[in-house]
Amino acid sequence: MKASVHMRQHKLALCRDHYLEWIPEQTERFIKKYEMFRREERVLVAVSGGKDSLSLWDILHRLGYQADGLYIGLGIDGGVGYSDESHRLSEKFASENGLRLHVVDVAKEYGQPIPILAEMSHRGQGRPCAVCGLAKRHIMNRIARDLGYDVLATGHNLDDEAAVLFGNTLQWSGNFLRRQSPALRESPGLARKVKPLCRFYEREMAAYALLRGIEYIYEECPFAEGATSIYYKELLNRLETDKPGSKLIFYLRFLEARETGLFAPAPEEAANLHPCPNCGQPTSTDDLCSFCRMIEKLKTV
Ligand code: SF4
Repeated sequence: MKASVHMRQHKLALCRDHYLEWIPEQTERFIKKYEMFRREERVLVAVSGGKDSLSLWDILHRLGYQADGLYIGLGIDGGVGYSDESHRLSEKFASENGLRLHVVDVAKEYGQPIPILAEMSHRGQGRPCAVCGLAKRHIMNRIARDLGYDVLATGHNLDDEAAVLFGNTLQWSGNFLRRQSPALRESPGLARKVKPLCRFYEREMAAYALLRGIEYIYEECPFAEGATSIYYKELLNRLETDKPGSKLIFYLRFLEARETGLFAPAPEEAANLHPCPNCGQPTSTDDLCSFCRMIEKLKTV
């Protein structure tokens, strides 16, 4: 049979059927290798309507895991109805596969959509990503905890992880390097977080979604344009073109270094965390966490 997907970095070419078997097999291998979760545990998959998160949900479902979805409505339009369309596609995937999708609408819960919350809070100089990231982390953790999920899974792929690693290495950001992991253990007030797709290239996930017939949103979030992470991805793509496999080696060598304890957390970091008096999620300040502080401040605007 004619090969459909050529993966120069793995020196491997697979036909459609074998590719659709290979991706879930590899995912299962990574779940076990990084001790992400066990079969009897409940998984909450953060879905955005994009190829990675919907493919992850599809794979976990096919592998027989108990995986429900969480969609967070950010209220981003960008002239393309970005949030409405990503919500529609997430619902469509859930109903076609008989899966359960939880939906949290930021505007309904916190009074305003993300772009307005960002404007009101004056964070991020015209780009709402800082507020958006803060809100998503807070909501994902809250829903996982409140609804009794054992683990929160996100669809970050190798390109995402390598770009984050590249940025953190350029700055030698010790705190961020310590926290970058395929599986971050749970801690008081924080859900376990895992990234089962972290070793797949972005194009491998695009090929999976396409061959599997998953309908996903092609447009990036309109606020992603000009983001530093996209610039890093472009740089790494240039490197990958000249030296296939570079991205994977960069990431895997980092994980190996992590295992030797090179990025072990400083004991005082954990000791300095307290539960936020409002939401109970850990914070390094003696007062409210950053998210609750932002929401409280906005009530006075
Ligand atoms: Fe949120 Fe869009 Fe920024 Fe991503 S690019 S953090 S979805 S605003």
